[in-house]
Amino acid sequence: MVIKKVELETVCGYTSTLPENTKPEIAFAGKSNVGKSSLINALMNRKSLARTSSQPGKTQTINFYNINDEMYLTDLPGYGFARVSQSEKEKWGKMIENYLNTSSQLRAVFLLIDIRHDPSANDKMMYEWMVYQGFEPIIIATKLDKIKRSQVQKQLKAVKQGLNVKPGTIVIPFSAQTKQGREEIWDLMDQIVEY
Ligand code: GDP
Repeated sequence: MVIKKVELETVCGYTSTLPENTKPEIAFAGKSNVGKSSLINALMNRKSLARTSSQPGKTQTINFYNINDEMYLTDLPGYGFARVSQSEKEKWGKMIENYLNTSSQLRAVFLLIDIRHDPSANDKMMYEWMVYQGFEPIIIATKLDKIKRSQVQKQLKAVKQGLNVKPGTIVIPFSAQTKQGREEIWDLMDQIVEY
């Protein structure tokens, strides 16, 4: 997709009603610091459209980016913050669950996992949640440039095993630094939107 226009159109908090979009949506999820903002910025060729979690006060919202009036990229709130209260976590869970459950336009979900680390309990929960809601999550293994080339296959295997992915699951290694994987992700997104 040639990006002619991108704008952050809707920001939903715990109490907001989800937008009734009429264009396909593709969601991105992952724990905080996994590189989700960097990926979104790379996909949209922008330096700082999506805010990075290192910025203090980043709120837990679902952000809908309108791309070319053709589709929405949905940025789900990052999980795994250590200093978040139980009640905040519950609100977060309800918000995501509600979105995965009720959005009539949500076509696909991408789950981001740091290629250097085995998936966490939260990552596994998120994966299972998505599968339970009827999706076949596409995995993006982030920060590819941080490991040696000789380690890539081994780490991809560890990510797949850690999540216990279904056979045939797509796993795309990606680096926000070199942009490796960007084209592959866009090819998939184009297919999903056109389908
Ligand atoms: P988010 O919390 O998931 O939105 O993660 P960010 O995009 O804010 O990234 C967290 C940190 O990892 C930042 O310091 C980024 O610069 C860094 N980072 C993200 N992606 C990559 C990558 O592909 N390669 C490298 N080397 N660093 C990355």
